[in-house]
Amino acid sequence: MKPFNYDSYNCRVVFGADSINNIKAEVEALKSKKALVISTPGRLDIAKKIDDLLGDSSVGIFPDAVQHVPIETVENCLEIVDKVKADSLIAIGGGSAIGLAKAISLQSAIPIIAIPTTYSGSEMTPIWGITEKGQKKTGNDPIVKPQVVIYDPVLTTGLPKHISVTSGMNAIAHCVEGLYTRNSNPVITLIAEEGIRTLFAILPRILENPSDLEIRSEALYGSWLGGTVLGSVGMALHHKLCHILGGSFGLPHAETHSVVLPYVIWYNFSHIPEATEIMARAIGSKEEDVAGSLFDLALALGIPMSLADLGLKEHDLDQAAELAIINTYYNPRPIDKSLIRQLLQYAYQGKRPE
Ligand code: NAD
Repeated sequence: MKPFNYDSYNCRVVFGADSINNIKAEVEALKSKKALVISTPGRLDIAKKIDDLLGDSSVGIFPDAVQHVPIETVENCLEIVDKVKADSLIAIGGGSAIGLAKAISLQSAIPIIAIPTTYSGSEMTPIWGITEKGQKKTGNDPIVKPQVVIYDPVLTTGLPKHISVTSGMNAIAHCVEGLYTRNSNPVITLIAEEGIRTLFAILPRILENPSDLEIRSEALYGSWLGGTVLGSVGMALHHKLCHILGGSFGLPHAETHSVVLPYVIWYNFSHIPEATEIMARAIGSKEEDVAGSLFDLALALGIPMSLADLGLKEHDLDQAAELAIINTYYNPRPIDKSLIRQLLQYAYQGKRPE
């Protein structure tokens, strides 16, 4: 067995239907008396419900979180935090609401309770991001990692099908890269395999029956596993490419992950025999067809299949390949610019990887 290090963050996870009904007790357990609820405008209804459940432990709602955490939103929210003297942040929603809470916590060290309602996994990570003058700065700081995460599948039954399956593919991507990243370890490998198995099986079933609580519980479980992998080990080429395509070309976060993943597995295939064996076992495919099977899953989910579908222009591919070789993340197969350019061309065309 290879030597390894394993860092685990202390975090309380509360999982189950209607678990948000205990939110007040969770806030009190943190010794908080002034909780500020943070959401996107689209989740204001559920933010109000939480505000009601908190009663006199709430100091109000900040419902203006948006994607990519613009610095202006952070400053507006910080002003409110100071004014109401908030001593905990309740982030309800996806990576956008949780991302804003993290940006506030980064400056104030105020603890976060996260109530995720998508599958992208931000709630389990110490990774923060803030966008200023069109550039997204990211960093890693344990202070922003939520201290409590409440997974309540009831809150996800209304998550639109498209966001459900694309953020679910995002969670699969976390698990895949956790299998071959440099600092992986046996515990994270087990979690990643279970995450891939769970999500691969459950995402198509969301389309058939989006309001089924059992299906939503399985998907949320898979997303917790994906977030745990993302928050515990480094990522590799796939996350680097998605960061470039989102950050420099404005492509949508979760859809980009869905499109790019099969091609990164294709790129790495000859260098990740153990990871391929695990993925094949998790999704029930032949090892040489793991990339193709993930492509087929995306096709079956009816999501965009190519970078062209997402609005990238063919003339951007050269620049994207250039950016991919600057400050590269660790990757099991060395980063070769012409091969990366080829990968991007395939992803641009949406051709099934063989
Ligand atoms: P999101 O938070 O942007 O939400 C997408 C939309 O879905 C929003 O309009 C929201 O109001 C709506 N929504 C969320 N839950 C809903 C529900 N249950 N029912 C109905 N509507 C709902 O989406 P996301 O994919 O979770 O987050 C993307 C952002 O998170 C990106 O900015 C990405 O960079 C970031 N992210 C960060 C990390 C990290 O570790 N820091 C990890 C993953 C993603």
